[in-house]
Amino acid sequence: MFGPPGSGKGTYASRLSEELTIPHISTGELVREEIRNQTETGREIESYSKSGRLVPDEVIGKLLENRISQADCAKGFILDGFPRTVTQAEVLERISGPDVVVNLDVPDDVILERLSTRQTCGKCGAIYNERSLKSKAAGICDKCGGQLRKRDDDQPSVINERLKVYAVQTQPLLNYYHKKGIVRNLVNKEASAPPDKVVREILRILKAEQHV
Ligand SMILES: [Zn+2]
Repeated sequence: MFGPPGSGKGTYASRLSEELTIPHISTGELVREEIRNQTETGREIESYSKSGRLVPDEVIGKLLENRISQADCAKGFILDGFPRTVTQAEVLERISGPDVVVNLDVPDDVILERLSTRQTCGKCGAIYNERSLKSKAAGICDKCGGQLRKRDDDQPSVINERLKVYAVQTQPLLNYYHKKGIVRNLVNKEASAPPDKVVREILRILKAEQHV
């Protein structure tokens, strides 16, 4: 699942995962779990980040390979946050390349509006939106009762910079998958489009091509 920051890809990926009963794998979460459990790889990753070095793609690749080899991935899985570069895509190709890349194509002004109304639970990280995905009680997380807040990096100037970085980083990667003919664009121009509607559209694309 590809999409710029604020495209809602994490939300859609987790709903699709429920819908298709296949795991939603976030490499960020895999890394945090290794560190939490203080595994050998977790300590290795910590030593990279403490010294300000990037975690090598092969290390992330190994984590991913372990995760994908588990029984619950036999029917498939949804990747979110990986790959981010062509080198990572090549690592993934050696493990299990994607059948389809869903590319969420969202105009910058829509992202700006969505991120500036985004709320995150300070306790469990669940994401809400003041317009499109309201919590049941204002300012309170439905899942854990934690306080909702706005993130510092959801300021317009920071968002614009992140979008620029994303576009530059992602273009070569999209070209890589375009050449394989597996990119499916999903244009979403509505800032307050309900997540269910977007997920239904993604499912329609996947079913039409018999991926699911
Ligand atoms: Zn919460």
